[in-house]
Amino acid sequence: MTAHAELQWGRTHIAYSVTRSARKKTLAIRVEPDGSVHIVAPPAVADERIASLVRKKAAWIVERQRRVADVPPKPTPREFVSGETFLYLGRQHRLRVRAGADPGVKLVAGYLEATVPRGVADEARRALVRSLLEDWYRAHAVERLPERLAEWSAKLGVQPKALLIREPQKRWGSCDAAGNIRLNWRIIQAPRKLVDYVVAHELAHLAHDDHGRAFWALLGRVMPDYEERREALRKAGGGMVW
Ligand SMILES: [Zn+2]
Repeated sequence: MTAHAELQWGRTHIAYSVTRSARKKTLAIRVEPDGSVHIVAPPAVADERIASLVRKKAAWIVERQRRVADVPPKPTPREFVSGETFLYLGRQHRLRVRAGADPGVKLVAGYLEATVPRGVADEARRALVRSLLEDWYRAHAVERLPERLAEWSAKLGVQPKALLIREPQKRWGSCDAAGNIRLNWRIIQAPRKLVDYVVAHELAHLAHDDHGRAFWALLGRVMPDYEERREALRKAGGGMVW
């Protein structure tokens, strides 16, 4: 039997479900990948004791929810050789590695063409292709993300202090207390709808620093299909981390 409950912790609203199980001797608390909170409890434990456990664990719960909502998946191994595909704004592009004088990456007739000097040994060439690709994506993120940020800042009625293009550890983006928005350059691989989800999500943190009800309500007002986008990002994310 599962019941639903909720409590207020500071400015954060924590909703949780409680399942009673005769097989349980102690209280167990779990935060799912979607951020939902589940308690499994022995039948005799009073609701008030459960609520007090949730309150005691609130900081941990909120931190976990924050992490699961913003976190990219584990990296997919890549070889950085001709024929592999890479995403840019949701489109798949085949990598073509060629030898030439001017090292760099260009988008040529649908191919991501990486030029590397002649005579570079296999392993060094792969490392070079990787770093040239990173430079290319970073440059495109710097070029494209500010306009996305401007559009969603206006829709949300918030004003970020600055946009920093980084590769935050295990985040698509983050928002600090000073109002700086950090976006992971890797997000530029995603379709624009998913880029916008990350941008709007981080901007909404300027108004609400947690993932409480008010946060999702604000995001939902400007982006009614945010849940679909969040789910799509979770699925697409694997190809974007390498
Ligand atoms: Zn968040």
